[in-house]
Amino acid sequence: MNFEDMKSQRRGLMIVLSSPSGAGKTTLTRRLLSENSDMAMSVSATTRKPRPGEKDGADYFFVDKAKFSVMIDEGEFLEHAKVFDNYYGTPRGPVEDSLVSGKDVLFDIDWQGAQQLTQASSDDLVKIFILPPGMQELEKRLRSRAQDSDDVIAKRMSKSEAEISHWAEYDYVIVNDDVDMAMAELSAIIIAERLKRKRQLWLGPFVKTLVQGG
Ligand code: 5GP
Repeated sequence: MNFEDMKSQRRGLMIVLSSPSGAGKTTLTRRLLSENSDMAMSVSATTRKPRPGEKDGADYFFVDKAKFSVMIDEGEFLEHAKVFDNYYGTPRGPVEDSLVSGKDVLFDIDWQGAQQLTQASSDDLVKIFILPPGMQELEKRLRSRAQDSDDVIAKRMSKSEAEISHWAEYDYVIVNDDVDMAMAELSAIIIAERLKRKRQLWLGPFVKTLVQGG
């Protein structure tokens, strides 16, 4: 087996991105996915109603509360939590499939989900928290999306502080003041995490052939 084939044999990372709503996480996630063909997004199930433009099966699996309960009972979720007034959960199957096939999986989940994944599978996990540069900027970004009512925005702003209070539970924290800088920082984290010795399962056999003059 040549060097490139050996190197491609790896188990994927579980990359959790958490932030208060409006910190720019969606933009960063989209860019990461478009720049990394060996990365997949975990599509969550939720009981919240779709926003304009959101597609079932792509942004979320939109389900009702009854279906969500059945999914919990049947052990279909890797983690699940109530966020605001709705339920959200990460379906287990697609995540395992991606990891085994050597793809990294991105999770856009809240601090509760991050805590549950830490307990379930901490070896593969990299937790990154995205902060806004200021709370006024956060509100401006929430309003410019113009998809939520004033009521919902006020509620999300008040929840933002609670989400931010969990920043210290993450491995990395990025302040998203400039999106290009934040992207560069995110990419640096992911490259370094992929290079960790314990994750490069191919190194043992490679070094063996190396010292044998292969
Ligand atoms: P939104 O309704 O704005 O799409 O998401 C609201 C919050 O729910 C965000 O903080 C998002 O990260 C979180 N979230 C989305 N999917 C999941 C999930 O599967 N599990 C958990 N724990 N949180 C989620």
